Amino acid sequence: MYRYNAGMNSLSQRLGIFGGTFDPIHFGHLALARALRETFALPQVRLIPTGLPPHRDAPPVSPQQRFELVQLALAGEPGLVADDREIRRSGYCYTIDTLAEIQRENPQAVLVWLIGGDSFLNLQTWRRWRELLDAGHMVVAARPGFDFSALPSDLAEEFAVRTVLASPGTAEKGRISVLPTPLLPFSSTEIRARIARGEDVAALTPVADAIHRAGFYR
Ligand code: ATP
Repeated sequence: MYRYNAGMNSLSQRLGIFGGTFDPIHFGHLALARALRETFALPQVRLIPTGLPPHRDAPPVSPQQRFELVQLALAGEPGLVADDREIRRSGYCYTIDTLAEIQRENPQAVLVWLIGGDSFLNLQTWRRWRELLDAGHMVVAARPGFDFSALPSDLAEEFAVRTVLASPGTAEKGRISVLPTPLLPFSSTEIRARIARGEDVAALTPVADAIHRAGFYR
């Protein structure tokens, strides 16, 4: 049973977290990270490329290379920072462990962490998913083709009880909000497929030139 716990929650004590494979980072990721920062008035949002993703096969571009592309994409983006903790870790990375580690480093902070609608629909397959709901303030980004009304019943129940409007004042642990952004029709899968077909991806990712120079995804 969920119990609401009002705690200290000053603006400067919030930290934005956005984990993903970023294989490669695209304009959708950037727009979401910016919207997260602005919507919740966060001093910083950390983008954390995953090392070995638990839900996918190992990607062909190395974790270090994906991380460097994220760094490049964030150059000149105020308040958006690439965090390499997961690519430095050996073995699988679970979100619950990463959030716990960041919480230990920032004991006063409310972690405001972003997850895409497609990932959210599968949340019950994630490690210790109920604890994950209490680990911070979870922010769900709607995604084209994914419908929240299709949530499995346990998750739908949690979503109904925990959801608040997205705003700086409501970003509390154990609550969920939906990021108020337009649907963003970008995906890394599509970028990889287009590059494999020899097509230009400059409209989809800010790091198209770097990808092209390195010969990734061909
Ligand atoms: P892939 O196509 O390889 O699965 P992706 O485009 O989903 O990649 P990820 O790095 O896996 O990119 O995404 C990181 C997080 O961002 C995930 O939670 C994902 O759901 C979310 N996300 C990515 N793109 C979008 C988008 N266009 N709209 C909403 N959420 C997104």
